[in-house]
Amino acid sequence: MRSINPATEDVIETYDEHDEPTVSARLDEAWREFESWRTKPIERREALLADVADVLRENADEYATRMTTEMGKPIEQAVAEVEKCAWVCEYYAEHAAEFLQNDRIGTVPGSKTYVSYEPIGPVLAVMPWNYPFWQVFRFAAPHITAGNVAVLKHAPNVFGCARAIESVFERAGYPSGVFTSLQIPAERVSTLIEDDRIKGVSLTGSTRAGRAVAETSGHELKPTVLELGGSDPFIVLDDAPIERAAKQGAKARTQNNGQSCIAAKRFLVHETVYDEFLERFTEEMNALTVGDPSKAQTDIGPQARADLLESLHEQVTRSVVSGATLHLGGKPLDQAGYYYPPTILTDVPDDAPAATEELFGPVATVLKVETEQEAIRVANDTPYGLGASIWTGDTERGEALTQKITAGNVFVNQVVASDPRVPFSGTKASGHGTELSHHGIQEFVTKKTIWID
Ligand code: NDP
Repeated sequence: MRSINPATEDVIETYDEHDEPTVSARLDEAWREFESWRTKPIERREALLADVADVLRENADEYATRMTTEMGKPIEQAVAEVEKCAWVCEYYAEHAAEFLQNDRIGTVPGSKTYVSYEPIGPVLAVMPWNYPFWQVFRFAAPHITAGNVAVLKHAPNVFGCARAIESVFERAGYPSGVFTSLQIPAERVSTLIEDDRIKGVSLTGSTRAGRAVAETSGHELKPTVLELGGSDPFIVLDDAPIERAAKQGAKARTQNNGQSCIAAKRFLVHETVYDEFLERFTEEMNALTVGDPSKAQTDIGPQARADLLESLHEQVTRSVVSGATLHLGGKPLDQAGYYYPPTILTDVPDDAPAATEELFGPVATVLKVETEQEAIRVANDTPYGLGASIWTGDTERGEALTQKITAGNVFVNQVVASDPRVPFSGTKASGHGTELSHHGIQEFVTKKTIWID
């Protein structure tokens, strides 16, 4: 398994697949460590997590460079990602005990009744390459502090990041076995889920991968958190602040080279402001610098893999064939590296890939809508339900519309973003279960009822 620098197409490193005895030995160690780790006072686990935040900050440049080299994220965004990982660690270092303290139940007179939150064991994390540090820390920070241990199967193109993350926990002084990484391909995940030493699974990735994991986990009756794709609507109402919406919209669409599950993907613009929005949005998209992700001035680096670039371009081409207008971009750059320019599609038919599928790259679909009702209908007309944002000059109007959108996260006059303090979840084909906040830390614990008469 190889990691390839998507900016140069050079092979960075080749990784040997872990054989069965190696995987089994690592699972044994994870299980043994769980027995001891779960009994440690939660304050001790919180203190270690605070040390992880320090290690991340002290070595931010090293980790950021690793991400940029392996998957092409612009370096400044990579540095920001390391900082966000430190933040989520600090957040749970401060709040984990509070979120998991025994929950007294006052509705049973004459009895002492409460819920205690108990860790379940080693939890498998199947993670993608797009936020190679953040997705892992978003999972690991709460769940290992709750007393579980983590077993990571990362995407092969970011195995260097997986090793670096393992070293973060080592440097912070964690006992070996609390965080373990396995170098295995996707085909071996179902065997792992069937293994009795794995007690739960969290996956971030495509809906296809989520279905496969859910199928095996369902059979094994193991809990899952699935954070899958999205085709997020970005609704621009007739009273929206157009300049700000256009600027934020371009940022929302192209963050992380356009490879984000919560990127704004479909722009639904009221007809009275459509021309003005399209003009400004085009200016914003056109002004973005595409190029070497190691340079500070770069806004959009390469797509992470050759096959991802190909499938993105194929979706754009099929959309044009089915009647969409190519308003900007639309062709891979003719140079080494997997570069795709900022692209805008308009007049997109309902059944075109740009309207129905997730486009994981800097490609925006801009659609004209005649009414607020039509905007809501089109926003919900997707298999996905991850995020949505609404832009309006009237926040009460925006807030009322949040109730009509079927999605896990709806933001008014703000770009959808994850934040340790608030829950993050999807619905429909975007998955189920919750990450972050006090909701997230309770996903892989048994809520045990204690009743004493
Ligand atoms: P995948 O969903 O295939 O990969 C994500 C992770 O899941 C990887 O570790 C992958 O392993 C693993 N995986 C894949 N298939 C299975 C399976 N059948 N059983 C268990 N694990 C599996 O994403 P891709 O990298 O192929 O990207 C394809 C598309 O997925 C993107 O274009 C985008 O639309 C979407 N995606 C969404 C993400 C999100 O943040 N929600 C993140 C990444 C992708 P391996 O790499 O070894 O196959």
